[in-house]
Amino acid sequence: MLKKFIARVIERATAKKAHPRKAKVLTAAEHGIDRAKLSRGALGTVEGLHKAGYEAYVVGGAVRDLLLGGVPKDFDVATNATPEQVHATFRRSRMIGRRFRIVHVMFGQETVEVSTFRTADLSDAPTDEHGRVLRDNTFGSLADDATRRDFTINSLYYDPEAQTVIDHHGGVADLKKKVLRIIGDPATRYREDPVRMLRVTRFAARLGFAIDPKTRAPIRELADLLTNVPASRLFDEMMKLLLSGHAVACIRQLRDEQLHHGLLPLLDVILEQPLGEKFVMLALARTDERIGMGKGVSPGFLFAALLWHEALAKWNELKARGEHATPALFEAMGLVIDAQREKLAIQHRIAADMREIWSLQPRLDRRGRNAAKLLEHPRFRAAYDFLLLRAQSGELDTEVADWWTTFIDAMPEARLEMMAPKPGGDGAPRKRRRRRRPAAEGDATPPAS
Ligand code: ATP
Ligand code: MG
Repeated sequence: MLKKFIARVIERATAKKAHPRKAKVLTAAEHGIDRAKLSRGALGTVEGLHKAGYEAYVVGGAVRDLLLGGVPKDFDVATNATPEQVHATFRRSRMIGRRFRIVHVMFGQETVEVSTFRTADLSDAPTDEHGRVLRDNTFGSLADDATRRDFTINSLYYDPEAQTVIDHHGGVADLKKKVLRIIGDPATRYREDPVRMLRVTRFAARLGFAIDPKTRAPIRELADLLTNVPASRLFDEMMKLLLSGHAVACIRQLRDEQLHHGLLPLLDVILEQPLGEKFVMLALARTDERIGMGKGVSPGFLFAALLWHEALAKWNELKARGEHATPALFEAMGLVIDAQREKLAIQHRIAADMREIWSLQPRLDRRGRNAAKLLEHPRFRAAYDFLLLRAQSGELDTEVADWWTTFIDAMPEARLEMMAPKPGGDGAPRKRRRRRRPAAEGDATPPAS
């Protein structure tokens, strides 16, 4: 009798190991997702794969956001079809990625990212010496795939045809509890991919969720692993963070998690310079506002703002060494951008925008007879917005910003009047004469661009 009982217990335990947990399947009435909120691309991709005989689900952030009542900004689909099979199913599709091969399926303007279920067993995956997984292209089942996702709330699969949600890791319960919980052993999962530490921070800030204590515990100790992550991935993650519409909250959270220290030069700059902090936080608050209103944000403007005080400090340093203002400014811009490039792959186009916005600042500061010409400059609007931030943060006399605000709205005659040289001056408004500048500062006008 007892033998039989023990045998049954052992059997049950073994079965539990083979099938770690049974997935919960929620019906439409239980999960409440409104199918109409799915994009044409998401529906079309799932339908196309189903018709071709494959399994396919909407997965990840889209399901999470739908369950939270939001409208997802983009859709990811997971399937048991290989990338080649997905590509063969859709005429308008292309295979991308090396570390993680996926397929982009295009529907009109929309792109749906389709990934093949990954295996849960990473023992054969190539890693670097710190355990970071370099490539992850061994395929598996839906259950495997669910275990490979980062957080429980990101591991939910929605089948728009059956209208069911498949939940392997208690993601729905965690959504209700507003908790971010990593799947599996936290330290192992961060070692596999240190970017997950930034992701948990971003999601916590964006969703207003708490980080489960076990998920949070290893972050401080493992933060340094982020230094081994390629620059291009960090850049992508930084952009997601800064453009999440909750950049201010994200930065606070990063600071709470001690993730900023010595990791990304850019974050160091943002979080560790008292002078620039006000300016940067204002710029981020403005960015959050714009995103909240559905307006676009220029990455060039954002980075110009994040690094402005760094550039200012370098500029002043070079001027103090006796360099002329204009070449000093250009040298400072180059030094600051290059320093960031090493760790953060700032693209050339963005760097060019940053240089323009920065180099227009001393020209705007001066106002005067070139003002009308400056107004025609393609980057004037960005440079003016930047000037406003400088004034609001207390770095610049508000009189300068007010002068421009008046000038922009003024009638042509009034503009001429404003640009006219003042008695005893050289064309610059009165304010400038009151400023005491060391001789070395000289003329800060960069070459016209
Ligand atoms: P967002 O709203 O910011 O796009 P998201 O959750 O959709 O959030 P994505 O980067 O688009 O984030 O990733 C889609 C899904 O892929 C995630 O929800 C998660 O399931 C999985 N995923 C993404 N990055 C990782 C990672 N580093 N480790 C494990 N799973 C990941
Ligand atoms: Mg997404």
